[in-house]
This record gives sequence, structure tokens and C-alpha cells, in this order.
Amino acid sequence: MSQQYDVIVVGGGPGGYVAAIRAAQLGFKTACVEMWQDDAGKDRLGGTCLNVGCIPSKALLESSELFHKSQHELATHGISAENVSIDIAKMISRKNEIVDQLTGGIAQLFQANGIEWIKGRGRYLGDKVVEVTAHDDKVSEYKATKGVILAFGSLPIDIPVAKMDGEHIVSSTGALDFAEVPKRLGVIGAGVIGLEMGSVWQAVGSEVTVLEAMPDFLPFADKQLAKEAQRTFKKQGLDIKLGAKVTNAEVKDGEVVVSYEDKNGEQSAHFDKLLVAVGRKPNTQDVLGENTKVVIGDRGFIEVDEHCQTAEQGVFAIGDCVRGPMLAHKASEEGVMAAEILAGQAGHVRYDVIPSVIYTHPEMAWVGQSEEQLKEASVDYVKGDFPFAANGRAKAMNAAGGFVKILADAESDEILGAHIIGPNASEMIHELIVAMEFYAASEDVARIIHAHPTLSESIHEAALAISGGAIHKVNPKKK
Ligand code: FAD
Ligand code: AMP
Repeated sequence: MSQQYDVIVVGGGPGGYVAAIRAAQLGFKTACVEMWQDDAGKDRLGGTCLNVGCIPSKALLESSELFHKSQHELATHGISAENVSIDIAKMISRKNEIVDQLTGGIAQLFQANGIEWIKGRGRYLGDKVVEVTAHDDKVSEYKATKGVILAFGSLPIDIPVAKMDGEHIVSSTGALDFAEVPKRLGVIGAGVIGLEMGSVWQAVGSEVTVLEAMPDFLPFADKQLAKEAQRTFKKQGLDIKLGAKVTNAEVKDGEVVVSYEDKNGEQSAHFDKLLVAVGRKPNTQDVLGENTKVVIGDRGFIEVDEHCQTAEQGVFAIGDCVRGPMLAHKASEEGVMAAEILAGQAGHVRYDVIPSVIYTHPEMAWVGQSEEQLKEASVDYVKGDFPFAANGRAKAMNAAGGFVKILADAESDEILGAHIIGPNASEMIHELIVAMEFYAASEDVARIIHAHPTLSESIHEAALAISGGAIHKVNPKKK
């Protein structure tokens, strides 16, 4: 007889661990199967996000930006700081400590919520039975009486033209642990991860070249925002080569020689390290037994409906291993939804209000639709924008680049999209997420008192600008 739980979650990343905690809160006897071990063989919860993703990358972005500011910004405040240096080993160990604390925190939360952490690799066999192969190869089976939540996550995509060796040619995980600043860093892929990791090492002194096959920069973002970002990165010295498709990368005499094709033909570049950041793929190889109806589609994603329900009743799949943006907060919300549906509650994710953030300097954040998407869908919209250059707080912070843009339905005035590039964009976007969650009109935001002087006043002004009422800029003449 296999051991029984009400709910079994497979995968302990931000999808799985959140699903497990919510399930336990709702009164289910819950287990979470997680196989992650760090380089020292220590078992870890938290998945990609806490171990090698969101958290460590933000820890490094913070350290590297502080160093960069010490070199390039302090003088404008009249502060002279000579001989400032950075100890990369210390920067990395600080990052590791944060990861340790947070992953350990999840283990404590599991304990406090009475969640059983089953250590090992899980396979879903069907009929709510999960097989687990422990680290010592012992195989056990566990039965869920109520439901199963599959949260296998994702892995970096490797491309045959740039085989990762873990030393010179690395994935994002390797780029979180460089022992020293690479003099020349190549990055394949100008996606979110490539830009964030490129920024980290550029800020501490690397010459960074980003090779991107597509002709457009950030094609998934609003064009005005992408253009502003490209302009700013160029000014910062980040060499972004668009329309540059990497065809080969090999290590010769201790350096990486990269061949790529662009509009002028075959090119080559030499780097000390090469980061391959060409996207991630669902981690769904050999995770299903033969007797389940759960389906893995063509591109490796588990097929689910809008409630993350798979083809087998009571079996859900969430996070990076299913359709939708590969984001931690999307995974977590799906985890909450699945647990609540199992408890007989409504369970719902508003997929049209999932924020996207790029944590570079400047930060970029957006929610809802871009101008291009609205045009494509023939939606009649109005826009209001406001530059941080006219915001007193941004000036005081020496961060007066970028803008806030709000897009609203021309007839109903409902906010359909919001796009921010500039200081604290990742935090500021939430005012507009709340507005969109409540189906607010731009006038609702325009009528809210915003404290002065704050960066958030730029949101207020952008909302005011929609009706031509922005105070601190000249509004375009009405046609
Ligand atoms: P994962 O976090 O990948 O977790 C899946 C877990 O399941 C893993 O722990 C794995 O060991 C375990 N597992 C898999 N298969 C099995 C099995 N068969 N048995 C047992 N356990 C199994 N997202 C953001 O929203 N914001 C960010 O700033 C951000 N930054 C990122 C930076 C980097 C460098 C990277 C790589 C990613 C970043 N992401 C970010 C993406 C984010 O990490 C993922 O979207 C998120 O982790 C997905 O959560 P998940 O639970 O679906 O999967
Ligand atoms: P993302 O999926 O957002 O992380 O972005 C990955 C990026 O890598 C995409 O914009 C791809 O166009 C880009 N890419 C994939 N393969 C190559 C390649 N061989 N050379 C250059 N860029 C690539």
C-alpha cells in the first residue's frame, strides 16, 4: 500500500511550493516532491527562481549597480570616493547567503504548515499516483486522494552551435557564479535573462557584446519602450548587435571564438566568457508514466485549460511547464488557483494582467497591451505619457531618464496597458496593475492624490495626459 496524501505537488519552485502551502492552508494533508540539490549535495526548495533565477540575479544586479554608481555617479553629488574596488568573491558569497536564507525559509514554511517534503525525482503515473526515485535510487509510490499538481519548471535551452562547457560557455546559472570579471563577455540572446546578466557584468567592468538573431530589440515589448531601452543601453556602452545569428562558438587557446552572420555576411568575435541565453524549455522529459491521460504537447509543455486542469480530472499543471509567460509570479498564482479549485473554491488567474519586468538599469515594467497589440486588434485607444525628465524626485535621484505611458480605451477610458521605463519601474507598475485589476478608467487614476515629490507622480501625470490635462508638461494640441 502506497503512502497517502490529499494533495501531492511535484516540483518545489515558486509554482509548486506556493501550491503546496496554499493546499496545506486549505486543510489538505500535503506533500511536495522536490529533487533539487546544490553543488554541495544539500537538498533545496525554491526551484529555479530562488536558487539560480530571480533572486540571485537581483542580488548581483544590486551589488553591481552600487559599484557602478560609486564609479560614475557619486561625483555628481559632490562625493569623492577614491580607490573603490569590488571583491567579486564577496559579491558572489553575499548572493549565496541570500539564496541560503530564502530557500531555508521555504523549508521552515513547509514545516510550519505540516507539508511533507519528499526528496527525490517524481514521475506522474496516472490515477493520482506519483512515483518517487530518492537520491539513493530507492523507488516509492505515493497516492493522492484529492489532487496532484505538477510543477516541473523549466531548463535553459542549449543550442548545438554553442555547446556549454560550464567554464567558458555557460548558461545563466554559470553567469551567476563567475569567479572574476570577464574582460570580454559575449551574450547570445537579447532576452530578459541575457540583458539582466549582461548588465551585471558590464556594471563591474566587462565589455559586453549581445548577439541577437532577431532584427528588432525586445520585440515582445511596446515599441516606444523598446526604443528608449535600446538608446539608453547604447549610451551605457552595451554593444547590442541585432540581426546577428550565432553559427558557431568554440573555445580556442582559452578564449571563446564566436562566428555569427549579419547583414554584412560572416563575422567573428572573441570573448573570455560566453553566456548562452536563448530561452528556456519546459522540464518535462520522462515525467509521465504510460497510464496517464495527461498530455505533453509538441514543444514539451503539458497541455492544460485556462484553469491549469490537465486531461486528467483533479490533476493540474502549473508554471513554466505549461503555456504562458515563464515568470515566477505567474507560476505562483497558478499554484494558488489549482489548490483553491481542489478545495472547491473558484480559483482564477487574470492572464491579461500579468506584469513583465526587466530589472536592468533603467528598469522596465509593463502590464496589459502594447500600442502595437492594440493596433493589431483594431482597438481604438488613447495614450498619455510623461517623461521622468519632468519629475522632480527623479531629478533629485539623478535618474531622470525614461517615461510612463498609459493606454486607455478611447470610448470607455478603461486602462488597457501601462508601460514604464525608468527608476523603480518594477515597483511603480503595481499602481497600474491594481487599477487594471479593478477595471479602472484612466480618469480614476488621474483623480487620485499622489504624494509630492514622488516618482509615482509620473503615473498621475500620464493618466492626466490622456485627457490633455497633464500639468507639468505641455499637452499635445487636440486635433
Ligand atoms: P521552477 O522554478 O523551475 O521549479 C521547478 C522545480 O521542480 C525545480 O526545483 C526542480 O528541481 C523541480 N522538479 C522538476 N522536475 C521534477 C521531478 N520530476 N521531480 C521532483 N522535482 C522536480 N521570473 C520572474 O518572474 N522574475 C524574475 O526576475 C526572473 N528572473 C530570472 C532570472 C534567471 C537567471 C532565470 C533563469 C529565470 C528567471 N525568472 C524570473 C523565471 C523564473 O525563475 C521561473 O519562471 C520560475 O522559477 C518558474 O517557476 P516553476 O515553479 O514553474 O519552476
Ligand atoms: P528569451 O527567450 O526572451 O530569453 O530570448 C532569447 C533570444 O535569443 C531570442 O530573442 C532569440 O531570437 C535569440 N537567439 C536564439 N538563438 C540565437 C542564435 N543562434 N544567435 C543569436 N540569437 C539567438
